[in-house]
Amino acid sequence: MKPIYEKVAFLGLGLIASSMALALREAGLVRQMAGHARTLKTRDTALALGLVDSVHETAAAAVKDADLVVFCVPVGAMEALAIEIAPHLKAGATVSDVGSVKGAVIAAIGPHLPQNVHFIPAHPLAGTEHSGPEAGFASLFQNRWCLLTPPAGTDADALARLTALWEGIGANVDRMEAAHHDLVLAVTSHAPHLIAFTMVGVADDLKRVTESEVINYSAAGFRDFTRIAASDPTMWRDVFLNNRDATLEILGRFTEELFDLQRAIRRGDGQQLFDYFTRTRAIRRGIIEAGQDTEAPDFGRSGKD
Ligand code: NAP
Repeated sequence: MKPIYEKVAFLGLGLIASSMALALREAGLVRQMAGHARTLKTRDTALALGLVDSVHETAAAAVKDADLVVFCVPVGAMEALAIEIAPHLKAGATVSDVGSVKGAVIAAIGPHLPQNVHFIPAHPLAGTEHSGPEAGFASLFQNRWCLLTPPAGTDADALARLTALWEGIGANVDRMEAAHHDLVLAVTSHAPHLIAFTMVGVADDLKRVTESEVINYSAAGFRDFTRIAASDPTMWRDVFLNNRDATLEILGRFTEELFDLQRAIRRGDGQQLFDYFTRTRAIRRGIIEAGQDTEAPDFGRSGKD
């Protein structure tokens, strides 16, 4: 395929950046890739793995002459990097990110960028519970959604190029308003993660069930909670601090429904439970029909995802 960008710079070289780099190289969509990460260890690993062509001690050096700059760091680290790179951006470059929240990221990066660059926030809905440069794999974005939240008036050509880049590495691209994105993700990702963290914490607290029982007999349901609850603590701390309102709204609704089901169990109202689970089962079928998961009994997670 013909390259879409001459030079891409990744700020952060973890799971998402390394997966993007591997996929872009495989698809031949960029000519040159540069990267920056906080620690020498990560920069050295990224170089040794051949993820990028060059690594840089500073973000400012990494973005030099880049046509596309992608923030791939935890959300809370973005503002300081935006301030650092702003004077070093190439005129006409596109600046994007992969952060799991969009409103806070736009507020953190947008105000610091010069007028002569295109800022197009993005969020690939793909990931695993693993982190770091060694966790990446080229097929991570295949048949996954990537949501772009371009501000009004975004340059059409810049938007088309970024869309082509994500489509070129297998993603389905959709556009959304940032506040709506944050509400949707609070339902589909952020609140479920918090519930998983809590459930695993509860099991850990419950001294009547031994640790070995939790580990040995976790196949039914709990195992999936433990997988989710193993996700990176820094990333998830930043998600909750930066998508506070939408997450709290969804958790409020969740708590109300949980109390309702708790009451149904106490009253022995089997019909209410049956009707509720029938409705939720239909949602699961919808996800499978949309190709976002498989029928496999292990929830399709026998591979890396
Ligand atoms: P990750 O594997 O933990 O990697 C984070 C990277 O950011 C590391 O290379 C780290 O460098 C670097 N970093 C952290 N703070 C930095 C700083 N102050 N300056 C420079 N580099 C810094 O994270 P990830 O899973 O790729 O997530 C990256 C972004 O993608 C996050 O915003 C997250 O919300 C979003 N996202 C994640 C997923 C997912 O499932 N993981 C899915 C979609 C979107 P060091 O190793 O040197 O510390």
